Amino acid sequence: MKIDTFIKHLQVIENTTSRNEITIRLAKLLSEASHQEIDKICYLVLGRLLPKYQGLEFNLAEKTMIQIVASAFNKRPETIKKLFHQSGDLGSTAEQLRQQWPEPARNPQMADIYQQLLAIAREKGGGSQERKKQKMTLLMRAISPQANRYLVRIPIGKLRLGFSTATILDALSWLEKGDKSLRPQLQYAFNVSADIGRVAKWLKEKGAAKLTAISAQPGIPIMPALAEREVSLKKILERMNGHALLEPKYDGFRVQIHINHRPTPGIKQNLFNQQKPILLRIFSRSTKDITPMLPEVAKASRGLPLKSAILDGEAIGFNPKTQKFVTFQETTTRKRKYGIGQAAKDIPIRAFIFDILYYNGQTLIRKPFHRRRQILEQIFAANPRQNHLALTPQTAVTKLPKAERLFHRYINRGLEGVLIKEANSQYHAGQRKFSWIKFKRAMEGKLADSIDCLLMGYYYGRGKRQKFGLGALLVGTYSPKDGQFYTISKVGTGLSDKQWRMLHRRAAKLISRQKPKNYQVPKELTPDVWLAPGLVLEISADVISKSPLHSSKFALRFPRFQRLRDKSPTEITNLHEIRELFKIQEEENR
Ligand code: ATP
Repeated sequence: MKIDTFIKHLQVIENTTSRNEITIRLAKLLSEASHQEIDKICYLVLGRLLPKYQGLEFNLAEKTMIQIVASAFNKRPETIKKLFHQSGDLGSTAEQLRQQWPEPARNPQMADIYQQLLAIAREKGGGSQERKKQKMTLLMRAISPQANRYLVRIPIGKLRLGFSTATILDALSWLEKGDKSLRPQLQYAFNVSADIGRVAKWLKEKGAAKLTAISAQPGIPIMPALAEREVSLKKILERMNGHALLEPKYDGFRVQIHINHRPTPGIKQNLFNQQKPILLRIFSRSTKDITPMLPEVAKASRGLPLKSAILDGEAIGFNPKTQKFVTFQETTTRKRKYGIGQAAKDIPIRAFIFDILYYNGQTLIRKPFHRRRQILEQIFAANPRQNHLALTPQTAVTKLPKAERLFHRYINRGLEGVLIKEANSQYHAGQRKFSWIKFKRAMEGKLADSIDCLLMGYYYGRGKRQKFGLGALLVGTYSPKDGQFYTISKVGTGLSDKQWRMLHRRAAKLISRQKPKNYQVPKELTPDVWLAPGLVLEISADVISKSPLHSSKFALRFPRFQRLRDKSPTEITNLHEIRELFKIQEEENR
């Protein structure tokens, strides 16, 4: 595919608001891509070069991009700054300047452009910023004004075409069937192998019938299974039909550990040992590679007696002196880029493993849970107990008093609650099903669970808040049905001064001149500053009420900020879950 064809499709998509039309257009674009380029096109339309788990970021600041645009078209950075200020979009500034540039534009192949962008992103070490600038300059002069508009936005993370992976999955279905009927199979494939490029390529090469035969592969994350909620332990046991397995719920962060002692060619390896390269990766809940942050867990995983595996678990910090678990806040200090050695001494991590999804070359997610657990127990029996990796305790329960006893025992130990899992169920990758139900200790508020919301914008503060740059937050929920975000609350409490400042800093990168096109916001709630989807906040509240004001038709009473979440915008508590939580609350109050 030539770049100008690609760009023509992007232009149409950018000017379209209907999700259906975006899907159809994307399908057209993807149908024109060859087997070799379809994966790259998928990453590019999401504003990336590689899937998120590969962790390749451009790392070009807007400031640097202003200099690049200036040097590409022989202007002074001040001039670019001014133009940028007027348009609010560096892409259109570059487009405008390229129009006046005398060199004729070429129309290279997308594969060529992609390789150039990849080379720019991969520049590392001394002088790399300079080399990035030079290469980007050459690229911008070579391509058309319209192509400049879009390519300049990618390295600064501002492509923002207003859709996510879910829309690409719909588009792939359109491409095959002319409707969305293939979506469940595509979703399954993506949940097992969270690499949209791999799924698209698999579909093109092997056809729709083979989608559900996609296998997991160490090195590529599996979308983590999620837990449902229920009103009471009694109701949970009823749902489990006598096959309940109860586990403690640790309040740390999710880890998915991938181990392969004979790595597949093409998959990045860690060279712990030059003679024996091994693949060892730890992914977060949202499929980010967090291996470098957890060296002690990586080392312990390397020592497990197996050839290859994908393990699911929860990482929690402990005090090395008292051996007691630390709070969630202390555990999350381990999610850092620098000072890892010291942090690992101060707050070492223990990863509690509760599932195995792949073992010695075989994908296990369709096997019943009790069978997967058996394999886990064998592995851990052969591996003497050690500090950084442990098997999650599990108890079969049929009677309510036993479940209650265990629940209180864990709560008294300071844990968050329990997870009850159905012994015969398969692993529902990326799905929230009743085969896993969480039951937490009552929170200070009355809601059965806190709510993860998208930060959609903010209002300038008055008084004390003014110095933070923002005073109240507009947050929303998501509807997977139409891909839109709906408002649910304004939040102004629960944040320390430090957290207000941190949010202001993090939000700066997401500021958008216009309302993002997939936001449904009533006029009365228009914030002073719009933010593109990016920041997910955990909010606790006392009650969910029906609301005539908010576009979700629900509102939160006494909303309080709890923490930032490592989730992508489409993974927040969705509208359907809000309705369910509302129902649970109504039942409890009856
Ligand atoms: P969700 O992950 O369901 O979207 P959430 O991020 O708010 O919601 P929780 O409500 O805390 O998560 O419940 C599920 C999470 O609990 C899992 O994602 C996992 O990180 C954690 N967890 C702790 N212990 C266990 C366990 N024994 N089995 C499964 N998950 C556990």
